[in-house]
Amino acid sequence: MLNRSQKTVRNSHKPEKSAGPHSGSGHLRSVRPKLVKQVNQRNIFDMIQSAGTISRAELARRTGASMPTASKTVARLLHLGLIEEQGLVPADGKGRPSQMYRVASEKSRVIGISIEPHRCRVVSAGLDGAFAAQDIVEIPTPPTYVDLIDKCARCAVRGMSSRGHKALGIGVSVSGTVDAMHQQVLLSPNLHLLDGQRPGADIESRLGVPTRIVHETISTCLAERIYGEARGVRNFVMIGTYAGFGLSAVVNGDLFTGANGMAGELGHIIVSEAGELCGCGNRGCLETISTDPVFVRRVSRRLGRELSIDQIIGMTGSGELDPTPELHETLNGLAIGAAAAVNIFNPELMALCTRMFEVSPGAFEYLAQRIGDNALKPVMQRCRIIRVQGDTLCGGVAAAIHHMVESLGPRMNWAVEHAA
Ligand SMILES: [Zn+2]
Repeated sequence: MLNRSQKTVRNSHKPEKSAGPHSGSGHLRSVRPKLVKQVNQRNIFDMIQSAGTISRAELARRTGASMPTASKTVARLLHLGLIEEQGLVPADGKGRPSQMYRVASEKSRVIGISIEPHRCRVVSAGLDGAFAAQDIVEIPTPPTYVDLIDKCARCAVRGMSSRGHKALGIGVSVSGTVDAMHQQVLLSPNLHLLDGQRPGADIESRLGVPTRIVHETISTCLAERIYGEARGVRNFVMIGTYAGFGLSAVVNGDLFTGANGMAGELGHIIVSEAGELCGCGNRGCLETISTDPVFVRRVSRRLGRELSIDQIIGMTGSGELDPTPELHETLNGLAIGAAAAVNIFNPELMALCTRMFEVSPGAFEYLAQRIGDNALKPVMQRCRIIRVQGDTLCGGVAAAIHHMVESLGPRMNWAVEHAA
């Protein structure tokens, strides 16, 4: 077959009648250079992103690309507005000074949007994920979906026009179950006006800028991965319990998504069949024993009145309340899920975000200890546990950057020498 194919390349002025549109050497010849070009631009951009600032020679050396390939790819990324010149750095000894490059933050930006039950936040950020706190626009979450899209789009326009930047993409962090492939919110238990809606597509059709929605746990995981604690970490798990039990993972450098982007629903494994009714319809899910709302419910039940987590944190701080029994009970539940994730994913790093850490200064250490007790020892010994804020606005920004980088081309673990 190979010989026949090679022969066809040489005699390609005579097309074979039997060759369909997706067979034969002509197709191969047109696809391969395009793929090589995409892989190169992805490799080079990834390298600039992780290095911070870097020269063309260093890019060529680290990615294994030839100098002409590195130069062409850098020129293309400059043209696309994805990277910028940082300035000249004097060469060591003889030779010309070299131009340094970094991901764009001056000419091109992304817009991050966080849609939350009580507020929406919008900000314009560089492709390095950096933004200024004073640029954040915050509004109360509007009561209707139409109003929500209208207000978010207007805020995004303000963010885009404030400094005359070109917006390359918009990322929207939402709570609830998201069908990533169809870009649809299937169910948002804390903000039902999003149920069944496609806020990304609706914002995109208003503004003409590519827009992606991402589940808040995935978005905050991306934020840690692109410019946070997990930068450069190839196996990373993040668990957040602000609303439900959210888990997202980076496995061997790639976001673990599953077929429809719904992977990681560890919160809905049943840990006690006689347990409390869960939002999913089953009883005794991990989510019913391990989250911030569960902790709040437990304390409220004991005191006989409805409290918020802020009230509990305040009352504990002033010495009015000792929620240790409920705190430990809930953290024990969380430790079951976190230890399961350690065993399943064998991560180098696990990041936890829960407001329960604000209740007591020892809460994080208690949880880390319990996870260590529950997880398999050899796996646990290689895993570092940290606490992070898990801000969903940073998540929206990260979602925009992630989508833009993904669309550059596939990530490959081998260097491509061909000049594209
Ligand atoms: Zn459930």
